[in-house]
Amino acid sequence: MEVCSLARNLCFSLFSTHKQFQSGTGSSGKRGMVENLKRYGVISSKRVAQVMEALDRGLFVPVGSSAYVDTPVPIGYNATISAPHMHATCLQLLEDKLHPGMRALDVGSGTGYLTGCFALMVGAEGRVVGVDHIPELVDMSIKNIEKSVAASFLKKGSLSLHVGDGRKGWQEFAPYDAIHVGAAASEIPQPLLDQLKPGGRMVIPLGTYFQELKVIDKNEDGSIKVHTETSVRYVPLTSRVEQLGGF
Ligand code: SAH
Repeated sequence: MEVCSLARNLCFSLFSTHKQFQSGTGSSGKRGMVENLKRYGVISSKRVAQVMEALDRGLFVPVGSSAYVDTPVPIGYNATISAPHMHATCLQLLEDKLHPGMRALDVGSGTGYLTGCFALMVGAEGRVVGVDHIPELVDMSIKNIEKSVAASFLKKGSLSLHVGDGRKGWQEFAPYDAIHVGAAASEIPQPLLDQLKPGGRMVIPLGTYFQELKVIDKNEDGSIKVHTETSVRYVPLTSRVEQLGGF
């Protein structure tokens, strides 16, 4: 999935080139990543900074790839893990719906990185569900989480990852305070709107070639308010056959 505000991308690629921001693993790498996202104004929230520092992106990218550079990384199956600035942006947009005890759905959960961040934010009293339609990615995401600080949530059952068509959401734990969609839809899937709690928020990239990150708030009376956050570039929210065939 992914990608982003072009201006920010440019800014980050320049930074990466000049400061060798991409080198390093472990805590200095992830701390450096978060520090740079703060410096460039992407992260303003202390909670989001803390959670992205706590959950090591290095455990979620394929071995040998640059975990802490601000760029998406291929993860196989024609998918990518989003760039850190997109994860940060989505976490901040959803932050108010990710307080302890709240419920979140991550559609197109891929590596499980963002799903893991949600779990850290809503805690053991909350409920986080990740859904991806590629079984191998779901298996991989479970292994990634098991190695991470989010492992206990998986073990105790407040976090789960499932194989399924995310366009249908995941009814079992609905309604959700927060829904994140990590792949671009041509239109907002109705089941996701239905599974959003009144007072809840969904963040979803919409469009085909030209895409925009939309923020959808469901009011208490069930009506919907939509605003556009930024231009983005994600892989499509599609069928498994289309994705494996290269779209
Ligand atoms: N948020 C993930 C993004 C992965 S890329 C991460 O940063 O790691 C987008 C993901 O959406 C891919 O893993 C892809 O398999 C998944 N996807 C695309 N269409 C889907 C669908 N209809 N149902 C479920 N997952 C889907």
